[in-house]
Amino acid sequence: MLDKINALGAEASNEIKSAGDSKALDDLRIRYLGRKGLVTELLGQIATLPPEEKPRLGKELNALKANIDGALKERQAELARSPVMLKDFADLTLPGFRPPAGSRHPLTKTIDDICSIFLGMGFKIVEGPEIETEFYNFEALNIALDHPSRDAFDTFYIKNQYMLRSHTSPVQVRFMETEKPPFKIIVPGKVYRPDAVDASHSFMFHQIEGLVAGDDVTFADLKGALSVFIKNYFGEDAKVRFRPHYFPFTEPSAEVDVSCFICGGKGCSVCGKKGWLEILGCGMVHPNVFKAVKYNPEKVTGFAFGMGVERIAMLKYGINDMRLFFENDMRFLEQFR
Ligand SMILES: [Zn+2]
Repeated sequence: MLDKINALGAEASNEIKSAGDSKALDDLRIRYLGRKGLVTELLGQIATLPPEEKPRLGKELNALKANIDGALKERQAELARSPVMLKDFADLTLPGFRPPAGSRHPLTKTIDDICSIFLGMGFKIVEGPEIETEFYNFEALNIALDHPSRDAFDTFYIKNQYMLRSHTSPVQVRFMETEKPPFKIIVPGKVYRPDAVDASHSFMFHQIEGLVAGDDVTFADLKGALSVFIKNYFGEDAKVRFRPHYFPFTEPSAEVDVSCFICGGKGCSVCGKKGWLEILGCGMVHPNVFKAVKYNPEKVTGFAFGMGVERIAMLKYGINDMRLFFENDMRFLEQFR
């Protein structure tokens, strides 16, 4: 019996060492340790042995079983470490494939294009948080408590005075709290309003806002900077028109129109037969806004402007439905490669 055990041990050891893959190892495990395996068979014979030999041979058989199990595991680990050759499973002569190239989203492209024009005029890009407090979103911007946009229906309130910012203007306030004039900044970012989604509204959209402040900034500087931007972005032939308007944070304020670049000012369905397209709002910074950040409005003057990125992109690329920007339809996005 002892000879049988030793012979089986040697045989198993050799076979396991030369096993080439895990399938071969599985087969060996069944052959030796399986329910009808060779070792199991010997264990079954123990009962027929004389009582004085049972304990010793039982111990030997258990040791054999443990050794085979250990050898199987060791060989398995060895195989796992050995390198797999690419040629074993891939045809290296097949032509390769090119992953599809992505491109900037049309809104990202619009933001980049607009910002780069202002960067060329010496502006710097500033960003701020999308979760704001009433102070930064309203109060510091001279928006009175009874202003309609403070109504809960026009702002996503979170709780405890926190809200999703409804415009990018709070970033102006945050910037002015830590920096002193003169400066020229441009602020791109997402804003949120509880509007029902349709062809020209979304609960989330993008704005780009600008702020210039210094010792002697005038309305002429405002007109000059915006005219340079409009001619750069919409073309040298674009005409610019300023219309008086009201915003709480600027005084005087104006809305800016560009001559319709689709019909050349003759009147079409895009410009509503007017020949002009409204593209941004602007004005001279209200003294109360400067007071809120502890600037002296007797000394500091400045101008601010803001535009909706989706609207500008829709006009520029002739897109008639804002929802297209957010639906991730490849047929739409691929046109902006
Ligand atoms: Zn037109």
